[in-house]
Amino acid sequence: MTCIPDESDFSALTARLRELANPDAVDCWPTEHLQTLWQAGAARWVIPREFGGEGIDAETLLWRYRELARASLLTAFIFSQRNAACQRIESSANRHIAAQLLPDLASGRILATVGISHLTTSRQHWQVPTVTATMDGTDYLLNGVVPWATGAGYADLLVTGGTLADGRQLLAVVPVRAPAVVVRPAVAMLGLSASCTGEVELHDVRVSASDVLHGPIERVMAAGAGGAGSLSTSAIAIGTAQGTLDCFAEEAERRPELHHYLNPLQREADMLVESLAAAAVAGPAQKGRVSAETLRQRANSLVIRAAQSWLAATRGAGYVSGHPAERAVRESLFFLVWSCPQAVLDASLKELSCGLS
Ligand SMILES: Cc1cc2nc3c(=O)[nH]c(=O)nc-3n(C[C@H](O)[C@H](O)[C@H](O)COP(=O)(O)OP(=O)(O)OC[C@H]3O[C@@H](n4cnc5c(N)ncnc54)[C@H](O)[C@@H]3O)c2cc1C
Repeated sequence: MTCIPDESDFSALTARLRELANPDAVDCWPTEHLQTLWQAGAARWVIPREFGGEGIDAETLLWRYRELARASLLTAFIFSQRNAACQRIESSANRHIAAQLLPDLASGRILATVGISHLTTSRQHWQVPTVTATMDGTDYLLNGVVPWATGAGYADLLVTGGTLADGRQLLAVVPVRAPAVVVRPAVAMLGLSASCTGEVELHDVRVSASDVLHGPIERVMAAGAGGAGSLSTSAIAIGTAQGTLDCFAEEAERRPELHHYLNPLQREADMLVESLAAAAVAGPAQKGRVSAETLRQRANSLVIRAAQSWLAATRGAGYVSGHPAERAVRESLFFLVWSCPQAVLDASLKELSCGLS
């Protein structure tokens, strides 16, 4: 993989993230973790140079997501949602909005997040779209409930979208503190509650045609990279698995018999790291390239088995609330539900339903 130029700075960043207390409750937004990222210049990574960013390449970004997740899943996940918002702004043909927002995002002065799952993976069985877009003169009005938005209560901007009566969809940037936007209280979850994720109500949120980021078109999220089940999500899953295996390895230092179980998991993680690197650089038709969906299926399988193996190794002690192994098990299950296209979901259900054979 690309040798990242400031490798020692990056190691210092991940070391610092490991030192910080890892919040686990809905009222504990990880301000210090994000400040640590911003101090390391991470707010600039995905933003092009012309807007004050660093414009790092996709391969380097995946490498960094994986290593960040290895140090702190919570931080890597929140950061990835913020970057997804920046990338949707950056990839818009609307250069006026990009020029207006990206410099402030690059400096860390403002924070953005995404509420886009209702356009890809969430509420797909509903008869009516959860967020509608209607024309009002040359403007659009967005109405409904965005089902999931991480850190919306702490963000300035929400990249979200709605569906028109003819089925076409549009993406826009909505100022979170506008009176027409209501951020509902974040929900407590099995894990990652400190990501302060929850619903956002949109009441006649006005978007002028000149402020639309993408669309209106059918399947607006299919335009541009980084949708559900993207390589970034696999990078975060693989990094999380590696973080778990790092802890398992510490246990195995004291109990060498555990190496029998740890070693194959570590080899699997190494292979996935290689597949991720190959997928990041290879063209879509390249022979031997693992598809994004297959990679995510394998990453999901590994992250869950790694956490459960570590828990089994730590025995009852690991099952007590507050032990890092029980937390790893809870957080690994996040990957069963987050940003999973149907094929990934089906593969998880198939693996879980087959049992020992
Ligand atoms: C911690 C966390 C943070 C997240 N952060 C974000 C974020 O920042 N931005 C973002 O856009 N997304 C985010 N997501 C959303 C995520 O990517 C998925 O879209 C979401 O987990 C899908 O779950 P859902 O309950 O909305 O799915 P749905 O498919 O809507 O399922 C909801 C319920 O509907 C029922 N159901 C499902 N299918 C059918 C059917 N065919 N017929 C009848 N009933 C059915 C099931 O009982 C299910 O429990 C986050 C998710 C989590 C867990």
